[in-house]
Amino acid sequence: MKKYRTAILLFAIFEVVAVGLWLLSGNLFLLLNFSYIGICLGIGSALTAAGKSWARLFVQFTVGAYILVFLGLICHENMQIEGFWYYLLSGIVGAGTLHYFIAKIFGPLLFGRGWCGYACWTAMVLDLLPYKRHNGPRKCIGYIRYIVFALSLALVVVLFLLGKATPSVMFRLFIIGNIVYYVVGIALAVAFRDNRAFCKYICPVTVFLKPMSRFSLLRIHFDEEKCIRCGKCREVCPMDVEVDSNSRKKKNATECILCHNCTRACPVKALK
Ligand code: SF4
Ligand code: SF4
Repeated sequence: MKKYRTAILLFAIFEVVAVGLWLLSGNLFLLLNFSYIGICLGIGSALTAAGKSWARLFVQFTVGAYILVFLGLICHENMQIEGFWYYLLSGIVGAGTLHYFIAKIFGPLLFGRGWCGYACWTAMVLDLLPYKRHNGPRKCIGYIRYIVFALSLALVVVLFLLGKATPSVMFRLFIIGNIVYYVVGIALAVAFRDNRAFCKYICPVTVFLKPMSRFSLLRIHFDEEKCIRCGKCREVCPMDVEVDSNSRKKKNATECILCHNCTRACPVKALK
């Protein structure tokens, strides 16, 4: 039962959020939405704990595709960062704002970059590409994420100033934004032979995710006494994390997406 602690905790937290938001707002959709996500995360986490290598894929498609197709394309909620700025500047507390506060701004204190590993609909597709492990040093272009972040805010501010910040414009922006993300993400993955190049250098959401995830409660724990220094954990890490260290300041410490490739690869169970 102990190994399913995280699964139970994740489900319980999302259920508390779901019930709390429902009682506060009277909006049944919030209860159903967050309960569904909590159930998917709980099942995915339990499957991960049971050693199923496809567990993450299960969550990526049940949560990521749900957000993209149902919330985005069917319900017309702009779930991209421009949508967050739009709802924030409009003073609307909707699925878009709640999603950002829970999954990307405060949630990382609990589950770090779990969003990137399990729920992002862009990474859901990028992870299907063949470049699962990038060999070689990181490119020095991580600053691009800050430029994209600032441009996304500037774009929405300009739309407000021009009086064009309407739900239909934001919906079209959501479609265009996703197409751009997929095209750029796939092109970068092929160019750098690295599925996660978009996440490492371009994605503006990481500007929110990285600072909080440094203090994440959920993290990979390393047992130095068991380690035989084989280096297999670093070989399989898609985010170039210095896995064999417990320091919160280790190399790429804020990049871990909790995929558990390293824990599965370690021959002496020094990681958990
Ligand atoms: S391989 Fe390990 S350290 Fe690297 S991202 Fe996955 S869980 Fe994190
Ligand atoms: S895979 Fe395990 S034993 Fe090998 S270096 Fe990493 S933590 Fe140590």
